[in-house]
Amino acid sequence: MSSSAPNFFQSVQSYFDKATKFTDIDAGILQQIKVCNAVYRLNFPVKIGNEVKVIEAYRVQHSHHRLPTKGGIRYSMHVNQDEVMALATLMTYKCAIVDVPFGGAKGGVKINPWDYTEEELERITRRYTSELVKRNFIGPAIDVPAPDYGTGPREMAWIYDTYRTFKDNEIDAAGCVTGKPVSQNGIVGRTEATGRGVYFGIREACSVAEDMQKLGLKPGIGGKTMAVQGLGNVGSYTAMISQDEGDVKIVGIGEVEGAIYKESGIDIHDLIRFRKETGSILNYPGAISFGKEEREKVLEFECDILVPAALENAIHADNAPRVKAKIIAEAANGPLTAEAEKILLEKGKLILPDLFLNAGGVTVSYFEWLKNLSHTRFGRLEKRFNQRTYDNLISYIEKTTQKKVDDFERTLIARGADEIDLVRSGLEETMINAYHSVRDIKLSKGINDYRTASFVCAIEKIADDYSALGIFP
Ligand code: NAD
Repeated sequence: MSSSAPNFFQSVQSYFDKATKFTDIDAGILQQIKVCNAVYRLNFPVKIGNEVKVIEAYRVQHSHHRLPTKGGIRYSMHVNQDEVMALATLMTYKCAIVDVPFGGAKGGVKINPWDYTEEELERITRRYTSELVKRNFIGPAIDVPAPDYGTGPREMAWIYDTYRTFKDNEIDAAGCVTGKPVSQNGIVGRTEATGRGVYFGIREACSVAEDMQKLGLKPGIGGKTMAVQGLGNVGSYTAMISQDEGDVKIVGIGEVEGAIYKESGIDIHDLIRFRKETGSILNYPGAISFGKEEREKVLEFECDILVPAALENAIHADNAPRVKAKIIAEAANGPLTAEAEKILLEKGKLILPDLFLNAGGVTVSYFEWLKNLSHTRFGRLEKRFNQRTYDNLISYIEKTTQKKVDDFERTLIARGADEIDLVRSGLEETMINAYHSVRDIKLSKGINDYRTASFVCAIEKIADDYSALGIFP
């Protein structure tokens, strides 16, 4: 990147500036929305072996328009203030788009987590959490972290436990962090949430006949072809759910070791099994394989939907002209450079932006927080009641029609919802609503692209909050 190229935070701010041209919001409110409300940079000591190591860390709360603030904690050597501020800012807009009533935040600890033992990581995590507690930067009503790059359910369990030791009698303590293991007050469906949200977002976009016609595609997700870059958490769930529930044909997959293409379709479950067994996706039966040097070919495969689900800046000015897919679904964060986006938009492609499309994770984190505050799992109260009601209804229909419903169908129809059903249904509702609120803004304001429309949607909702709160009378 040249020294004059905008850094990550500046890029986010320039998207914001571009979007504000489509609003008539007071300049002061816009400025308040734009800036980071609180930036906490800290250095703390941790004993590693016989040495004391000083660790650099951050927690940024971008917007206090709604509390608590929310955002992941990443462990990476690339962590710096600018990056954490940019990610916290994006969280604010992401939450607003999917109506998750939180401000955005992000945390970062500048370490390479793979350089430390489990015990050392636990010490670092607990110390970082204690520092946040001391400064009032964590709590179910203040700021609620979640996993991000280099952290997972294990770290979230340590954070929860550390918080509890300080706030012994706080009844809602479990809501101080999300992404916890299910056995530690977590929620089922969190692992698949981002991929499932990506699927719901793509499915909704494909359901709009008018938009599909413009792309020369038939409406509906069924039968569409898809290529996916990255078979990690987000990519694998997107591919599996698209295939199993959307009847999508997966024709291409890219991973670190290379890429494969199979026009007749790849069974994604079989490929995952094959990769586990052989350590690679290459040489999958019936597919054309491209080695490591050619792994980016996955972005250029012939298909209807391209899902970059691996890393930032995957599609850039060089390869963008060769992208054949008509729909680019940003499952990863920032997979397109600004230049690539311009090229693809000029070619009439539909780009579903990360800001909206990968918000499934934070949405289900919100459900976890709600579960923690209510101290009960979803479905516990109504499941059996609903089951009995449906059962009575079937019996009544049987009686009046003199037709017997067989046992299998009866069980299927008269089933009460479990937590996983409710989480999936809430996520589906969220993604459908968010898609249409962004699309409505795009159409009504004559905006060319979904990213700008997503920013406008978020900015307008946040500005509404400020005026409703009477902060700017
Ligand atoms: P992950 O580490 O589970 O998966 C990433 C996968 O990409 C890995 O399998 C890796 O081997 C592969 N990969 C890396 N470089 C590659 C390359 N050059 N070509 C092809 N494959 C490559 O990570 P994840 O959680 O699935 O996250 C993926 C993206 O989605 C990231 O941008 C992340 O920020 C974003 N995201 C994740 C979540 C979530 O809930 N996990 C939520 C929102 C956004």
